[in-house]
Amino acid sequence: MGEFELIRRFFAAAPCAQAAEGVALGIGDDCALLQVAAGEQLAVSTDTLVDGVHFPKNCDPFLLGQRALAVAASDLAAMGATPLAFTLAITLPQADEAWLGAFAEGLSTMAARCALSLVGGDTTRGPLSLTVTVFGAVPRGQALTRAGAQTGDLLCVGGVLGDAAGALPLVLGQRQVAGAAAQALLQHYWAPLPQLALGQLLRGKATAALDISDGLLADCGHIARASGMALHIERDRLPLSSALREIAGASAHDCALAGGDDYVLAFTLPAAHLPAVQAAWPQTMVIGRVLAGQGVHLLDAAGHVIDPPRAGYQHFGSSGD
Ligand code: ADP
Ligand code: MG
Repeated sequence: MGEFELIRRFFAAAPCAQAAEGVALGIGDDCALLQVAAGEQLAVSTDTLVDGVHFPKNCDPFLLGQRALAVAASDLAAMGATPLAFTLAITLPQADEAWLGAFAEGLSTMAARCALSLVGGDTTRGPLSLTVTVFGAVPRGQALTRAGAQTGDLLCVGGVLGDAAGALPLVLGQRQVAGAAAQALLQHYWAPLPQLALGQLLRGKATAALDISDGLLADCGHIARASGMALHIERDRLPLSSALREIAGASAHDCALAGGDDYVLAFTLPAAHLPAVQAAWPQTMVIGRVLAGQGVHLLDAAGHVIDPPRAGYQHFGSSGD
């Protein structure tokens, strides 16, 4: 099977690559053409997943397809963008038809959930690696950035934290656990649901936002820095799933604070907007607040600053960004 047949069979013919609103021209030409309405800006983000680094070797291709797109689409959620389209640059060691079929199915499943269509990409031979670029639309000036948190704002998250970190020992085969709790954590790891509707709901309300990919503490550090503010997080307010408590036990809080891969939104919100946000997105939880100062501070129930667990994952060591 040559490169072009592979592209045609597994990508151009996939359900996620069919005609869609906002796509004037899809796969097959030198560029795709996207239609952006007047008064809107294009939000663009790229994520690369490398075999053995971001996912275990020989992992299930359907799950990998789902996860690769979910991770990228989460950045659109974080900006408050409406999903439009994505491209896929894939490097493959060989053209394995069963693998490609399952991968494309996983990709299409997540694409349907996120309302994203595949409009192009690149296909090369080499060690397995996936680069997904997502495109979304956001009304001019309304994108949710990391800068803008104000003194007195509430610090909120869009759902439970730490499930993906709790799943990691299971994903890596370091622990074997059966049962519903383990399945729930694995589901969160392999098919995180980008909080796209929440991001769009927060336009004009949240003062800063991002999606938690490297761990709550590390990512809140980005909001604190970009906004020139301090963030106080109350340890006892962290929303933990019963599945995480069951599987991770005493380390559940550390999973929520320092574990990566959650893809839940963290945002700062003037208190006046909380009722409307919680009515539309009931999983919204207040976990702290914004104060004058700098850095991220973890507090116990009595309001005393406590030491945080180890920092989130960084590819090039721990010094700075
Ligand atoms: P070019 O040589 O002009 O860069 P290619 O031969 O790489 O084009 O690709 C042909 C067409 O197939 C292009 O429209 C490209 O976007 C698309 N394409 C290539 N690989 C993929 C892929 N993995 N997924 C989706 N579309 C792809
Ligand atoms: Mg090319």
